[in-house]
Amino acid sequence: MEKLELIYQAQKEISVLSGIIELLGWDEETNLPEDALEGRAEQVKLIEVLIHRNFLSARLWYAVNKALPTTKKDALVLKELKREISKQRRIPQILVEEIAHQEIICRKLWKDARAAKDASLFLPGLKRMIKLKRRYAQLVMSGSDNYSALLSEFEPGIDSSRLDKIFSRLRDELLSIKEAIAQREYIDLKTDRSMHKKLVKDIVYSMGIEKRRLVFGVSMHPFSTQISRNDVRITTRLNDSVDILFDAMHEAGHALYDLNLPKEYLHTVLFSGSSIGLHESQSTLWEIFIGKSMMFWQDYYKQYKQVLKQPCSLDAFMKNMHSVGKPLKRLDADILNYCLHILIRYEIERDLILGKIDVSDISRLWKERMKDYIGVVPENDAEGFLQDIHWADGDFGYFPTYLIGLMYAAQIFEKMQKDIPEFENCIRRHEFHPIKDWLAKNIHSYGKTLSSEKIIMKATGNGLSPEPLLRQIKRLVS
Ligand SMILES: [Zn+2]
Repeated sequence: MEKLELIYQAQKEISVLSGIIELLGWDEETNLPEDALEGRAEQVKLIEVLIHRNFLSARLWYAVNKALPTTKKDALVLKELKREISKQRRIPQILVEEIAHQEIICRKLWKDARAAKDASLFLPGLKRMIKLKRRYAQLVMSGSDNYSALLSEFEPGIDSSRLDKIFSRLRDELLSIKEAIAQREYIDLKTDRSMHKKLVKDIVYSMGIEKRRLVFGVSMHPFSTQISRNDVRITTRLNDSVDILFDAMHEAGHALYDLNLPKEYLHTVLFSGSSIGLHESQSTLWEIFIGKSMMFWQDYYKQYKQVLKQPCSLDAFMKNMHSVGKPLKRLDADILNYCLHILIRYEIERDLILGKIDVSDISRLWKERMKDYIGVVPENDAEGFLQDIHWADGDFGYFPTYLIGLMYAAQIFEKMQKDIPEFENCIRRHEFHPIKDWLAKNIHSYGKTLSSEKIIMKATGNGLSPEPLLRQIKRLVS
């Protein structure tokens, strides 16, 4: 078999197998009987082994190194494939297994610690996880330090010394915006669930996702997944809150990105979002900058109000949506405190990986920063640093991508405002096609052929910048 043919065939097999894993994951979150977890884990593991075997086969590695590209596409595919395989070849199988094993242990310890409100149950497991992750970072070493190496797994091309500068500007400005605005109590407005569900679906379709390519589901935590090119799934939680609408717009933003990936790269390593941060920019753009804007609600609220159990005025509805409080939990936070929550975890996880602090310092540091940034101190660690599962999963370097995504989203929003004629009216009338088309052309169409920052640079004329986000937050909360 020709080398290029072998390369494309191997990628297709990996891509199809990955779709099967996504399908099994979707089913696990939405449908799986309680007792079937073990059976499901066996199924997932087998597919993972097949992917791994394919990816690290000597035949594929030989072909990737010897093949001569005949088209621009071949050249791009070979470059990315070579980068990815050579990285994975540097990680010994024993370390991969140790990390996977430690994840299982840590998740269990994390759950136990949360239930007992006692972080000491989790800390030894976490300490071991950090040690393994540091070893991993040294082996892949694609950044200037261990933390940057882990960050680059999610956000290639951006290292932590750069983030430190951007984030410290964000932190100082956010704290001063917060000081200047009045604190308000947030009321969780309730809806008629079945009427709301229908409205939520209509909004998602109006964003430009074809019914033929989408399935809705219900899960404990909302998520979206792509099973194959024309098959995306999104879930929402099962409750009566207005937030269900924003969850759905968020997940639909992710789904639109996946649906618009360039067809020519299907079944290759380039058929993917460019980075986690850029993916998150697509979801938060719809959820926050469009969905939570006055433009979105001005005309629509009259219709929407009918699903509210205690209807209020549009003005009260908007004020409630953007009330800035002192939330203990990131997932309950308004946009301003949400950013601050991310900064707290970023600062602590960076110092843990760099060895500047020990796991025994986390609880104290968390409480100190909560007091300084959010204005409230959690009574226990379950309400504190144990609120998110990422560290138990070994995902160090993931958190900052939430904030990178928000910065990109604000940059995109401001550029669309300039580029799209009658932008405000489009949102006001819920005619989202010009927005969808702009995103497809300027963001989605690149797949993974460029880094996220290069895509943003081409789309907006600027690299990663905190200023648009700060402007937009000020506009939303004041
Ligand atoms: Zn998301």
